[in-house]
Amino acid sequence: MKFQAVRGFKDWLPEEFIRYHYLIEVARKHLRRANFKEIKLPILEKTELFVRSIGEVTDIVQKETYSFQDRNQEWLTLRPEATAGICRMFIEQGLHVRPKPIKIFTIGPMFRHERPQKGRLREFYQIDVEFFGNLSPYHEVELLELALTILNDPFQGREVEKNPFILEINSLGCPECRPTYRSYLVEALSGAKEDLCKTCQDRLLRNPLRILDCKEPLCRETVGALKPISDFWCNTCRAHFEAIRELLELRRLPYVVNPLLVRGLDYYVRTIFEIKGEGLGAQDTVCAGGRYDYLLRELGGPDIPATGFAIGLERWALVVYQKNEDLGRHLEKTLNPELFFIPLGEEARRKGLKLVKDLRDSGYQVEALYEERSLKALMREADKSGAKLALILGSEELEKEAILVKDLKTGTQKVISLSQLKNFIEEVLRSENIS
Ligand code: ATP
Ligand code: MG
Repeated sequence: MKFQAVRGFKDWLPEEFIRYHYLIEVARKHLRRANFKEIKLPILEKTELFVRSIGEVTDIVQKETYSFQDRNQEWLTLRPEATAGICRMFIEQGLHVRPKPIKIFTIGPMFRHERPQKGRLREFYQIDVEFFGNLSPYHEVELLELALTILNDPFQGREVEKNPFILEINSLGCPECRPTYRSYLVEALSGAKEDLCKTCQDRLLRNPLRILDCKEPLCRETVGALKPISDFWCNTCRAHFEAIRELLELRRLPYVVNPLLVRGLDYYVRTIFEIKGEGLGAQDTVCAGGRYDYLLRELGGPDIPATGFAIGLERWALVVYQKNEDLGRHLEKTLNPELFFIPLGEEARRKGLKLVKDLRDSGYQVEALYEERSLKALMREADKSGAKLALILGSEELEKEAILVKDLKTGTQKVISLSQLKNFIEEVLRSENIS
């Protein structure tokens, strides 16, 4: 029997891992600069938490969660997103007493039982960023700019024709004005039920807002003829949205108002946004987020407004490494050892253990082979490893307290006394060849 990974669950080989890891570090760097603090959440939460926060009638809860009963018959769910868990933690750990604003982020895998395709997996990584404590549009625009700064970082200083990310914003209104829009939608669409796809006919009563971003051409056409949500905003929501737009313009952040933008989770109010990436096809949303001012309260916590976003790591990586192949190649090269140690004979091998440890302690990436094979065979392995320099220790060198250093690209070589080895290596690695 041959085992295969579970459908939609991906292995990360070293070449992939380093590409993802680089992006995670980019995100961490910018988040720390903005004083966000990293936390770790459990992968499992009680099913009820997601039902209560994401919403019972959402696609995520109805169709996408991995839920099961454990050995004590307790219903548990592999987290499909991080905001619910963060709010649970916020309340349980009493984070409201900390100095405001409270800014946290977490990076890790999420799980959704969806149809796997390009940019859609069943286990995928999110960089999830949450901001608690203030309603001001300044913080929101700062957060939007932070998301864009993170996403664009890998393109800095490189020749990219133009920014590959597009920011779309909308306002979902608030508990005061949204219900009116919702009723309007249900009424208008009930009359045109045959002009909706099967899924949207189902959504009509349980989750009508989600019809707005259905990708079926028929639904798009139907929805396009409706009044936009902006016609229904209350004065507060309208003023808030205008303030956001004004500040985005002040910061010269290009954006598009998309009146059909909605999110798949119930907890959002007012400003929501998506950042789409070029070249992704149908699954083109790299980052999504918005305000969720009442979620903490609804989960039994304090009345603190909040906003946040989540970057889908795999989709971000698709855009980055598709547009910037050099970066991917450069990262892959950093996986190769710098030095490849080849001892010839038992004495050299014994001495080698310490030499290799010393070189590693000095910070070099070192590979070593302790096999009794011909020099030619061992050199072949060194070549394959992609190492820069081979360090060959034979009986002659041992006698002289020296070692043979060979540049594996140019073929040049030199015998160097062991006491001078580190200086020599440092020089060669800096100048990129033996001169
Ligand atoms: P979509 O409309 O693409 O299904 P969503 O509304 O379900 O997105 P969110 O819950 O807002 O997505 O998640 C935020 C981000 O996480 C998405 O923009 C995307 O980059 C990523 N993401 C969501 N689901 C998946 C998935 N199944 N596979 C890979 N990435 C995903
Ligand atoms: Mg989804």
